[in-house]
Amino acid sequence: MPLNMFWDQKIETLDRAALERLQLQRLQDTVQRVAARVPFYQQKFAELGVKPDDIRSLANLRRLPFTTSADLRANYPAGMLAVSLDDTLRLHTSSGTTGKPKALFFSRQDVDNAAELCARSFVMTGVTKKDVFQNMMTYGMFTGALVTHYGAEKVGCLVIPAGPGNSERQVMLMQDFRTTFIHLTPSYGLYLATFLEKHGVEPRRDLALRKAFVGAEAYTEETRRKIEEGLGVDVYNSYGLSEMNGPGIAFECEQKHGMHIWEDHFLIEIIDPQTGDPVADGQPGELVMTSLCREAMPLLRYRTRDITSIMLEPCACDRTHRRLNRITGRSDDMLIVRGVNIYPQQIERVLMAQSGVGRNYLIALEGLDEMTVKVELAEAGFDGQVEHLMKLQSHLAEKLRAEILIKPQVELLPPGSLPVSEGKAKRVVDNRKM
Ligand code: AMP
Ligand code: ZN
Repeated sequence: MPLNMFWDQKIETLDRAALERLQLQRLQDTVQRVAARVPFYQQKFAELGVKPDDIRSLANLRRLPFTTSADLRANYPAGMLAVSLDDTLRLHTSSGTTGKPKALFFSRQDVDNAAELCARSFVMTGVTKKDVFQNMMTYGMFTGALVTHYGAEKVGCLVIPAGPGNSERQVMLMQDFRTTFIHLTPSYGLYLATFLEKHGVEPRRDLALRKAFVGAEAYTEETRRKIEEGLGVDVYNSYGLSEMNGPGIAFECEQKHGMHIWEDHFLIEIIDPQTGDPVADGQPGELVMTSLCREAMPLLRYRTRDITSIMLEPCACDRTHRRLNRITGRSDDMLIVRGVNIYPQQIERVLMAQSGVGRNYLIALEGLDEMTVKVELAEAGFDGQVEHLMKLQSHLAEKLRAEILIKPQVELLPPGSLPVSEGKAKRVVDNRKM
């Protein structure tokens, strides 16, 4: 492994025993701080009868309370703060759906740590200060753009804060400033690929682009391949959530096989979302995270709702921080249609593997319990022969039935006809009258 693929080799390759000692020390410190300063945790500790001194090993973590997104909303705006407001430096909110968002405060140290972890995450794929970073995540309250922005600056890259959308301008910027890597959502990645194709831009010929960090939404390996082909890049999966810094929590290394989660900053558990009990090693479940370094708003055992599993085997890159498998969705993403449990990712996997199918889709639930999968055709996908369309339609319906066990309606649409969102894509519209 070339030395320059590490931002902080010592910590990234720290042996497990030393890493766990560091984790315990930081966990104890975090628990002391919240017990002293956060009324929410003081009350929870009292209910459970735990005291900070009870945390003598990492296994004692299970004695601590869970924290949920409802708890964050209930303590809006500043109830979860563990520092005085004067010591906060930045406010972000999480991409909430309705009502009050989750308010997430950062201290100076938190801003710096978040950038540090992004720097590690970029550098482990070979990014250096010579690279040019065009950030296509949404700037604003969302952590997606600002945190990676600071991370790339820390590495010393030229950073272009383009934000998402306006693809014509994106291409101009990429050409004029020789952009080498980008960070964007999978839905915008798919859209941009279509845009390049439509405008005759051959990425490998016309752009200097080499890498794309893709995250903020769940996506499949099939989608990764589509973005890689369409943008002429290597795609690295990038995971984060605002409650825990935002992006830079878990990214893929150059192996592109599972995301190293920075365990000197986060303790992880995988639990059964129904019972709250840990799953067996390597089994899928809900990711639960405890922050170990966050100053302004430390969170204990935060229920992310994201479904993943821990990879058991060590990585060829020598990093000792364990890897998470691709997030397959959120436990609250699950749809129940005609009594069957379905994750939107299952549908995406079928669609993106099918030739002739384009890059945008929508799952519409209507009427009593009817599912229609609307999907765009590829630019070059339709030869004008209606029977070919009908064949593709029934083929897709069959493939989907094999995957999700119910047969949806399939609607094929011309390229560019479905809405494209600038932030996270809305893949499911549920207008059922039940
Ligand atoms: P936010 O806090 O608004 O940044 O949203 C965080 C959420 O986005 C996570 O809890 C995940 O549900 C989702 N997310 C972020 N990155 C990924 C990724 N690489 N794969 C799947 N889901 C992701
Ligand atoms: Zn690795």
